[in-house]
Amino acid sequence: MSESPYQRGTTHFGFRDVPARDKQKLVGEVFTSVAGKYDLMNDLMSLGIHRVWKRYFVGTCQVRRGDRVLDLAGGTGDIAALLKDRVGTEGSIVLGDINAGMLSVGRDRLTNRGLVAGLEYVQCNAEALPFPDASFDLVTIAFGLRNVTDKDAALREMHRVLRVGGQARVLEFSEVKADWFKPIYDFHSFKVLPKLGRLFAQDADSYQYLAESIRKHPPQEELKAMMAEAGFARTGYRNLSGGIVAVHTGYKI
Ligand code: SAM
Repeated sequence: MSESPYQRGTTHFGFRDVPARDKQKLVGEVFTSVAGKYDLMNDLMSLGIHRVWKRYFVGTCQVRRGDRVLDLAGGTGDIAALLKDRVGTEGSIVLGDINAGMLSVGRDRLTNRGLVAGLEYVQCNAEALPFPDASFDLVTIAFGLRNVTDKDAALREMHRVLRVGGQARVLEFSEVKADWFKPIYDFHSFKVLPKLGRLFAQDADSYQYLAESIRKHPPQEELKAMMAEAGFARTGYRNLSGGIVAVHTGYKI
């Protein structure tokens, strides 16, 4: 594939500046390393709260029975499983992820739960989606956008593949609002997470990357403006847990 002007520049990988063309490979190494322990680590790091965020995210999506939904950076399938409940047997979910290891854990997990019909797994880069224009009623991305090199391209692609009237939703770590909480949050991110990573996943570096990548991700208002720039209308967001995460919404009109 030819290099975009974006790929010829530099970007951040956590707190490091790296050539933009290298970020995808570095992120790939993180998720290949953590795939097998990803779900356990999510529960440990967030004390299970990620499940509440995900339930809120899917529970408040604009989605109906029979809809066709794309869950980007779908990883081990938490969002796809929740969405399947909402679209019912008449609907379908495409779980798209760039990483074969994460997709494989996701497929096994959902299959073991009896979730097979109406689910499709596609290895793809959010920056260049292999789907026709206007082919989904809803596009979601949870804890994925932060890892994408060219976030603007991914948002434009989400807009392109949505049908008119469809909704895009982004669940992502964001900027904590309360000043008193920031030192506690920093301690958890930079001291506790890498230790948990070393202990339970034999990988401190990936969890150091997680903490750093959260700090480099565009905060609430900036991401909202990026969504508008990508073509979304009626953009907005809601903070959860004091801004630890935010749910951004936009519509294609
Ligand atoms: N959505 C899942 C969840 O909420 O548990 C998984 C989130 S996991 C933190 C991030 C996922 O983004 C990984 O599975 C990774 O492979 C995927 N990812 C990273 N860069 C991507 C890209 N450019 N396109 C598609 N997926 C990507």
